[in-house]
Amino acid sequence: MNRMNEPIEDFLRKYTNNESLIDIISQHFFKRTPTFFALGYFYVYQEYLYPKGGTGVLAQKLAEKIIEQGGVIKTNTVISAVDPTNKTLTDNKGNKYDYSKLVWGADLKELYSIIDILKLDNKTKENTINQKEKIMASRGGDSVFSLYLGINKPLEYFAKKSNGHFFYTPQKSGLSQTNKQELNNLISNFENLSKKDILNWVDKYCKLNTYEISIPGLRDKSLVPEGKTGFIASILFEYDLVKKIKDAGWYEEFKEEVSNKMIEVLQSSLYPDLKEKIIFKFSFSPLSYEKHVKTSEGGITGWTYERKSPVINDLKKIPKSVKTAIDDIYQVGQWAYSPAGIPTAILTGWYAFDSINKNK
Ligand SMILES: Cc1cc2nc3c(=O)[nH]c(=O)nc-3n(C[C@H](O)[C@H](O)[C@H](O)COP(=O)(O)OP(=O)(O)OC[C@H]3O[C@@H](n4cnc5c(N)ncnc54)[C@H](O)[C@@H]3O)c2cc1C
Repeated sequence: MNRMNEPIEDFLRKYTNNESLIDIISQHFFKRTPTFFALGYFYVYQEYLYPKGGTGVLAQKLAEKIIEQGGVIKTNTVISAVDPTNKTLTDNKGNKYDYSKLVWGADLKELYSIIDILKLDNKTKENTINQKEKIMASRGGDSVFSLYLGINKPLEYFAKKSNGHFFYTPQKSGLSQTNKQELNNLISNFENLSKKDILNWVDKYCKLNTYEISIPGLRDKSLVPEGKTGFIASILFEYDLVKKIKDAGWYEEFKEEVSNKMIEVLQSSLYPDLKEKIIFKFSFSPLSYEKHVKTSEGGITGWTYERKSPVINDLKKIPKSVKTAIDDIYQVGQWAYSPAGIPTAILTGWYAFDSINKNK
């Protein structure tokens, strides 16, 4: 993996000057994704295993196990202050909790913005401030726009066209400058552009993009009612643009426009009568991830690859990635190690457990 760590765009350019081909292979990945991750993914995703009943079952089973072992789970509870000197946490309703070991499994920008470091000893304070500066200077990685559809068509219709998880690029030309220079211009000149200018770009972006499509019912029939199908299509989407649109006051309209454009693209290519068969639809944007999952810039797999990682990104050092500068506070999950994803979340959880056990 370390030997193929260079960004996928640079790697492909060594073999071909054909920008469309480079786009088709790489445009579904985050900007500057390490080569091993991008090329490995096309193979790995085909071997994904899903729990019966859908991915949510994994969380349910974990929760059952935690409760069975005497654990307590508090949902709808946001930790809003961490006091490492007195080893307490405070939530958004003012409740206080003591801890002996704290394992922080969420965004590190959040941790460093709510932790009270004033009373820490000088050395720990200095190390924590250094780490905080690195964390605060970085940003969350790329985000996505996901469209969810309930469709009045049987699974058999979809089974004739694909399996349950695939990538689809309707046009061979590739995104090219659409998600590079053109997008940057759009963001930097946003205030001087009209809604029509932005939507024209969105139209082109949706037409030239790669769609990651999931049809969970094709793996597990029990997930859908007879004769109907649940369908998810995702495309990468830049947080900064959506944020500007929200600030300009037309976010809901924008979400509707992107959803409709995505439906049009799918209707004019893979599924000719899709529109009239839709029973319901909803979507999740980079701002939804930021709001509901509390991730910086709506990032879906931790830190951006466009800047130097503020956390460990050498596989050999992953066991150390769970340590913070403060005794008895550990960090795990997609913000603790880069590159991230489900395996990182599981591995760092394991290493934190291991480290706590050794230091008992
Ligand atoms: C559409 C999509 C596709 C993906 N595909 C893949 C894939 O194919 N392979 C892969 O490996 N990964 C994939 N990922 C990424 C993967 O899902 C994440 O990296 C992983 O779920 C991160 O897990 P985590 O436990 O670190 O963090 P999270 O799942 O983000 O959990 C953190 C939790 O902490 C909570 N929280 C945040 N702040 C606070 C606070 N102050 N107080 C209390 N709670 C708080 C959040 O609400 C959240 O529930 C995908 C993600 C998305 C969105």
